[in-house]
Amino acid sequence: MQLHDYQQLLVDKTLQLLLKPKTVKGLRALIVAVPGSGKTVFAADLIQKLIQQGNRILFIVDREELVTQTANKLRAFQLRPGFIKAGYPETFDRAVQVASIQTLSARASWRSLSFDVVIWDEAHTTAFSQIAQELINKIYFRSHHIGLTGSPWRNCSQKGLNHIFDHQLNAPLPSELIQRKFLVPFRYFTLPSADLETISIEDDGDYNPRKLAVVCNKPYLVKHLVQQWHSLAYGHRTIAFAVDIDHSYAIAKAFEAQNIPSAVVHSQTPKRERQQIYKALYERKTLILSSCEVLTKGFDLPDISCVLMARPTQSKSLYFQMLGRGSRIAPEKSHCLLLDQAGNFNKYGALEDLDAEALCMVRSRNRHRAGSERYKQCPICFEQHRLTQPICSCGYCFTSQRQDANAALVEAYPQLMQQLTALKLSTEKLQKIGGLK
Ligand SMILES: [Zn+2]
Repeated sequence: MQLHDYQQLLVDKTLQLLLKPKTVKGLRALIVAVPGSGKTVFAADLIQKLIQQGNRILFIVDREELVTQTANKLRAFQLRPGFIKAGYPETFDRAVQVASIQTLSARASWRSLSFDVVIWDEAHTTAFSQIAQELINKIYFRSHHIGLTGSPWRNCSQKGLNHIFDHQLNAPLPSELIQRKFLVPFRYFTLPSADLETISIEDDGDYNPRKLAVVCNKPYLVKHLVQQWHSLAYGHRTIAFAVDIDHSYAIAKAFEAQNIPSAVVHSQTPKRERQQIYKALYERKTLILSSCEVLTKGFDLPDISCVLMARPTQSKSLYFQMLGRGSRIAPEKSHCLLLDQAGNFNKYGALEDLDAEALCMVRSRNRHRAGSERYKQCPICFEQHRLTQPICSCGYCFTSQRQDANAALVEAYPQLMQQLTALKLSTEKLQKIGGLK
């Protein structure tokens, strides 16, 4: 398989980093590659080269179903992976083993194996489990550990990933990938969201899901979402992110009621049925696929050109993962729409605004600039624009707002002058009384 120039460069840089003289502790490197930049292709090529150099690799994914998916991608690189996964026979002689974090926790047979390099897929989640800590700090302390992530922020935590990783390498920024046409640009629309003020935050740092469902799964909100889709995204192949399974069904039902073919996929949907649902979406027999968490990872249909976000989150990672589902390029796809009913865009901003500082694994509160500080909303069609944009694509002219502000100033001018004169007079009076100059 042919790699893009930037993917090749990233592989070379990573290999170079691994050449550093080995100390007792292996290297800890984080590779940051946003969704759509081809993280798995990069990983497969890296693994191939590492195996050629005689290394044994452990590749860890965070969900059982991603084991087979990852293994299939490795096979495209002529690799023959072994599995550490429930229901699969162990073939420990293979140079690369793909393991789910769950099976690693549940089994012990792999503990006698030695690995030169351990690769952590979705490192912002996998590298924090108890078993991960044991692998990194004890069992494979001397091995190199490479973390892969598209969102180098710990869920809802102010802590970064820098207490695990010592080095960071970045794939090109989203803005560059969009400019080079490896990703499509977005158009952002924000719709009024539910009132989230009263929702408590759980230990994991995100909203209490039960309470979130109560405020978000309201018929008027669902109805508004469908209406806005009709006026802004009609005909687009769409994925909707809901708060929970009931909310997913409520959204799909509301679309169905308008004769828009819709489906729901959730954690309990059998694998075969899930494949049929994805196929229907691919063939445009379904236009709306509604889900809660299932589609954030591992689902890859480039033709998706609209993301409905009805799931508020305190996790910047989750937001960019949801958004990233729509950023892939596809024939006849010029851009992707975001219809955000969750208040997430105002918190986390646009994909193309993720700069090197924002993608740095060292997290600090003041690094983050909210979307609402960089964008203004069109009052007619809800599209978000940069502050300097004069006219919305719907025709609304923002300059009138500035003129309004100027007009207000002109109106207030005589009054301001009066106040200033009065202030000057009273200062003079005070100076006279106090004998001040
Ligand atoms: Zn507009």
